[in-house]
Amino acid sequence: MKIGFVGLGIMGKPMARNLLKAGHDLFVYDINPESVSALVGDGAKACASGKDAAANGEVTITMLPDGPDVEAAVLGAGGVLEGAAARSVIVDMSSISPIVAQKIGAACAEQGVDFLDAPVSGGEPKAVDGTLAIMVGGKQETFETVVPLFKSLGSSATLTGPVGAGNVTKLANQIMVACNIAAMGEALVLATKAGLDPDVVFQAVKGGLAGSTVLNAKAPMAISRNFKPGFRIKLHQKDLRNALLAAESLKVSLPFTGMVQQILISLMNEGKGDLDHSAIVNFIEDMAGVEIKKPEV
Ligand code: NAD
Repeated sequence: MKIGFVGLGIMGKPMARNLLKAGHDLFVYDINPESVSALVGDGAKACASGKDAAANGEVTITMLPDGPDVEAAVLGAGGVLEGAAARSVIVDMSSISPIVAQKIGAACAEQGVDFLDAPVSGGEPKAVDGTLAIMVGGKQETFETVVPLFKSLGSSATLTGPVGAGNVTKLANQIMVACNIAAMGEALVLATKAGLDPDVVFQAVKGGLAGSTVLNAKAPMAISRNFKPGFRIKLHQKDLRNALLAAESLKVSLPFTGMVQQILISLMNEGKGDLDHSAIVNFIEDMAGVEIKKPEV
């Protein structure tokens, strides 16, 4: 297939590489020219704009930070929608507000272009392996057109409802991940301050009910004091903000999400917005005056 790809950051770059490996023709654009050059080295063709990338693609994928970025890149001047042919498909795989996804979907429909919102979970390692979990909103027939591409990017792709449903599902995912990391932080701070080795505690609990993919990925990072992103604090703050806005419009209380959101804002004010979200534990460590690491002998 001929595929336009816009947004070649931590996630977009390995995803685009997996599509190249699967034999597709890729037309790539990013506002950062270095990211474009890296993909051209792998066999992609450089484009001067989102419009240019979409003009070449039967399907155009966007992988950008937040809703305003996707609006600018798809609906703005020189954007993807200007280049997209009628009956081509735009797939936004960024994590954005479901309301913004619906707005973009409606603008695409007016021009006869099909739209899916298809955010992902699994982070950079699964983007590299091509084993992301993909959560999709849109029409069944559009979904089926794009399933072969999803198979190169993920180990699962689930249609959860109409446009916007992909991002509602992703917000549910992000609530579970954020609250899990915060709970892990409290648990390991307590164990460390009680004089235990947090790695031994992690090994002891990981096979039981408290074990999780989040724990397996994030406990070793905290214990080794490696907070290199991965998934940035500021992006998770964006997701919880979108979750709280959606919750407000639906009159749903999310007290735990609200609490972790306050922690994320505090960490951003400390200059930690670009650290991995495992650094949520830093807030809990600071309150206890202890770091989650092996005791010194
Ligand atoms: P990133 O900041 O590393 O990459 C974003 C890229 O978009 C950058 O290369 C940037 O230059 C480019 N960009 C921004 N505005 C643009 C525009 N108008 N036109 C063209 N390019 C533009 O972000 P990321 O970590 O790759 O995340 C992308 C999306 O995926 C976010 O919505 C994030 O929440 C989601 N996500 C990230 C992870 C993760 O672990 N990093 C996991 C799951 C989902």
